[in-house]
Amino acid sequence: MTETLPFTVLADDTAYAEAVQLAVDSAAAYYADGTSALDDDAYDRLVRGIQAYEEAHPEAVLPSSPTGKVAGGAVVGDVPHTVPMLSLDNVFGAEQLADWAAGLERRLGRPVTAWSVEPKLDGLAISARYRHGRLAQLVTRGDGSAGEDVSHAIGTIVGLPDRLADPVTVELRGEVMMTTAQFEAACAKRQAHDGTTFANPRSAAAGTLRAQDRPYVCELTFFGYGVVPPPDDHSELAVRLRELPHSQIMDWVAAQGVQTTAATPVAGIVADALERVQERVGEIAAVRAELPFGIDGIVIKCDLAADQAEAGFSSRAPRWAIAYKLPATEKITKLLGVEWNVGRTGVIAPRAVLEPVELDGSIVTYATLHNVADITRRGLMLGDSVTVYKAGDVIPRVEAPVVHLRTGDERPIEIPQVCPSCGDAIDSSQERWRCVRGRECRAIASIIYAVGRDQLDIEGLAENRVKQMLDAGLIADFADLFFLTREQLLGLERMGETSTDNLLAAIEQAKTRPLSRVFAALGVRGTGRSMSRRIARHFATMDAIRTADAEAIQQVDGIGSEKAPVVVAELIELAPLIDKLVQAGVNMTEPGATPPAEGEEPKVELPLAAMSVVVTGTMTGPLATLSRNEVNELIERAGGKASSSVSAKTSLLVAGEKAGSKRAKAESLGIRIVTPEEFAGQVHAFL
Ligand SMILES: [Zn+2]
Repeated sequence: MTETLPFTVLADDTAYAEAVQLAVDSAAAYYADGTSALDDDAYDRLVRGIQAYEEAHPEAVLPSSPTGKVAGGAVVGDVPHTVPMLSLDNVFGAEQLADWAAGLERRLGRPVTAWSVEPKLDGLAISARYRHGRLAQLVTRGDGSAGEDVSHAIGTIVGLPDRLADPVTVELRGEVMMTTAQFEAACAKRQAHDGTTFANPRSAAAGTLRAQDRPYVCELTFFGYGVVPPPDDHSELAVRLRELPHSQIMDWVAAQGVQTTAATPVAGIVADALERVQERVGEIAAVRAELPFGIDGIVIKCDLAADQAEAGFSSRAPRWAIAYKLPATEKITKLLGVEWNVGRTGVIAPRAVLEPVELDGSIVTYATLHNVADITRRGLMLGDSVTVYKAGDVIPRVEAPVVHLRTGDERPIEIPQVCPSCGDAIDSSQERWRCVRGRECRAIASIIYAVGRDQLDIEGLAENRVKQMLDAGLIADFADLFFLTREQLLGLERMGETSTDNLLAAIEQAKTRPLSRVFAALGVRGTGRSMSRRIARHFATMDAIRTADAEAIQQVDGIGSEKAPVVVAELIELAPLIDKLVQAGVNMTEPGATPPAEGEEPKVELPLAAMSVVVTGTMTGPLATLSRNEVNELIERAGGKASSSVSAKTSLLVAGEKAGSKRAKAESLGIRIVTPEEFAGQVHAFL
């Protein structure tokens, strides 16, 4: 450890004893269910403070001290590991990495032959024991020498097959975690079940791994990072697995059908020099926010078994490997206030206002608080120090108050008694509170959204005009627009003949929009523009959408088992509005789409089938006249999925003039890049 790192200064033996207790409790909670009163940074600072105090006062060292112990001394589980599951020592920056490597090479008396560089996944280490190729037992890391049997989770973990390719008896080691998508799905399930959510993917994975009697099942993901043959096994394979370089062992693991990071943008590499190691660390850190799963660092180790054997182990960690820690995605900051926003559908959503804090490369000032029950359950107060989590695309969320940091100046959060938007009553019968006026509460916002350029595209309907019509009682929702008469419009203040005729023509024109846009105009909760396009293409007619049950709705790409019932319920609520639109003669079909036949999946060969496409820069050639939304519509017509950000999942980037960071990111991820002209050629049949 270097002295440049910040640490908690402990004044006396009492402060030291308190610090030890806090660290032990935090480690126990962390290893039990992934939650902790301290974030990683605060915990590390505390342990460094304890270490510093112990160095100065060796006579005062308590036996319960977490220093020098695996998992901070937290003991859980009773299944002994055949070979200890050690954690790694950490470095925090390029300089410390260079110091560590130099120390290792001094110990070896020669340069390290080759380095392996891999992402450090932000999950829980587990051991998966296979007997004759069959997955027989899952054990958590626990305290490193013994862990907990979590075999009940077998079958719910993507990437961890029930059977290996060969009938071998080995122990696979790796990380169990939730991808961002799995995390969002798990939160939705829990929210539907008891109104609460998980704080972050790691604690969600920890809780899920242990949960035996939950009424719902959440999916997990496994990435293997090592193999341990049984210690008494001297078969040819066991000997080979002990002697192969780490990189080749990982090839063997992948060949057994186990997921490794090889197929991800942060795949492990072998580097022959430390400069290349540092470079790879930079590359992995650069794409961290775009990954579909969380990483908290980079693992650097000697690739050759001979180097590893020569370097050996310290009391708690291998000397031949180190974890290069990336900045925390979880930090403690202050809860300054709570804002209550009323959404387009009348849902009242609390939002935390935070003292700005840097997390995963961005400054976080707001975080979601889900609902009132969530605030009460967490016991949050204004002025509290709170743990905030954010990584990648996940919306920042407030985890919990750090109760021992309270000063007594905290105040209760005021819960609104009436709708903050219109002052009418609140319907609090559901976890998600809603204004009793529902969509009408925010009628202006709903109508402005519906007539927007990417929906019905009715020109000449500014907010003040919509308000004027609402106040005059001419309309109550956007369907009423289609019944407006010339006389009614001319009766409005500041409404001349020309603008009246133009507006009526624009409204008439809006009746011909494709179903995808009409559907988007409805503002169904949980469906934006691109989801609306997918729904419209899938069902082809509004009738087909309205007769679909949750199961049928779920056939649409991107709609899960949680969202489908919401869409069905919303469509029932919107029935009078849709009926009015039908009556007005608004188009209710999607050009070029055919409704799915009973019991069979539509099979069509589309040029962009299963591709995720991102468009950036200025469009030229045949695409020059299209708005970005129209280009996205084109992508979806051609079978692709339009996305706004480049990620590991992107299949194609259409890069026009002045394409900036998205192009650079696509290049670094090795994603195919085409010009607008090339792209137009590819999808000309759909233009
Ligand atoms: Zn209201």
